[in-house]
Amino acid sequence: MTRFFIETFGCQMNVVDSEKAAALLRRLGYEWTDDPEQAEVILLNTCSVREKPEEKVYTRIRQFRRRRRDQVFIGVMGCVAQLYGRRLLERVPGVDFVLGTQALGELPRIVEHLRAQGGPSIVQTRMSNRPEFLEISPAERRQRHVAYVPIMEGCDKFCSFCIVPFTRGRERSRSPVRILAELRALAEAGYQEVHLLGQNVNSYGLSHRIEGGRPLAFFELLRLVAEQSGFPRIKFTTSHPKDFMPEIVRAIEEYPNLCNWVHLPPQAGSDRILTRMNRGYTRADYLRRVQWIRSAKREIVLTGDIIVGFPGETERDFQETLRLIEEVQFDGVYLFKYSPRPGTPAARLSDQVPEEVKTERLMRLEERQREIQLRRLQRYVGRVVEVLVEGKSSKSQLHWAGHTTDNIVVNFEASRENIEGSLVKVEITRANPHSLFGRSLEVLR
Ligand code: SF4
Repeated sequence: MTRFFIETFGCQMNVVDSEKAAALLRRLGYEWTDDPEQAEVILLNTCSVREKPEEKVYTRIRQFRRRRRDQVFIGVMGCVAQLYGRRLLERVPGVDFVLGTQALGELPRIVEHLRAQGGPSIVQTRMSNRPEFLEISPAERRQRHVAYVPIMEGCDKFCSFCIVPFTRGRERSRSPVRILAELRALAEAGYQEVHLLGQNVNSYGLSHRIEGGRPLAFFELLRLVAEQSGFPRIKFTTSHPKDFMPEIVRAIEEYPNLCNWVHLPPQAGSDRILTRMNRGYTRADYLRRVQWIRSAKREIVLTGDIIVGFPGETERDFQETLRLIEEVQFDGVYLFKYSPRPGTPAARLSDQVPEEVKTERLMRLEERQREIQLRRLQRYVGRVVEVLVEGKSSKSQLHWAGHTTDNIVVNFEASRENIEGSLVKVEITRANPHSLFGRSLEVLR
């Protein structure tokens, strides 16, 4: 039996791609192992959004190669593979194949060829004009209870700091008919929650490159899947503020199975920096969208991403970002230090912010956001929330953990029976800055 091991870095889109890679290898009769020592094929599914995860990939390849010299094929897929292609072989010797983001379908052929005939490393990073959305069945998924389903891929926004339009290609939307069919199959197979994925879900259908059928706007797709998929919980990510419409909020208000959570990354609070980032909206535009969300008939949790230390960011610009988080009162924010990505316009700007200034600003922002989050999450204490149980808590085997409909992490006291995959009513007894704690009242289903 040939065994394979996949290590995934980066976003949920990569989690899905790893599931697809695994499905393709399983169709050859291979078996997934969680132990790289047992694997004859090792795949690293990579992320190049920031420098750190990229460096980690190189370290992992060296570790695998040092430990396993023969009889093992090491492949790199994902954004780092697409970005560097053949140059990756020079950067880290010992890689047998490099598979770009639109070449996943080639995986079985390449692996079988290398195993049968050996030979030099293979690089396949060609981008296609009409890339297909590879589909897998519910039974081929590894992720249980929560399913990630791409509805669009690629990005046409070209934010000046971002490598994604180069690694994932131009924006294209998937057919609503195929999306609905996949969602129905997943719901029938017992999945309770789906995340509709895209680099910018709000521009779903805006692109002409839609696969078959009449193009729908994103809010129309949301209404369609809320009505017809049979899913109890539907979430979506990531939203770009420029294309975010009030109709999305209306849809969430109308359909209880559209979860009350929006991830809307502002990236910065200063208009000068937003222009330099090529984000296509102003601080006032962003705050208008926040207003739509905050005035919804049911409470919608708002989270975001912020980059500190973008080239040219002054203390005054940074203060604008601090003021933005005060004003918006996010329930959660992913905060990052800017890291230059090769080939992006921002990496060529001469006024890069010194590392120590970035670190110091990040710490100030983190401290303030932590206080805001702790205060915000305290409003849940005493409330009863519905949690989808994803497994035991990472902190204690005595507790279960899962997410609410508004995507807040909840840890709660365990009953003895196995309730993984169930929807459970939990009474919240305590709030931490990043999660809630409670006790289970009732297993719903
Ligand atoms: S919207 Fe901007 S940050 Fe998001 S993937 Fe596209 S280019 Fe990157």
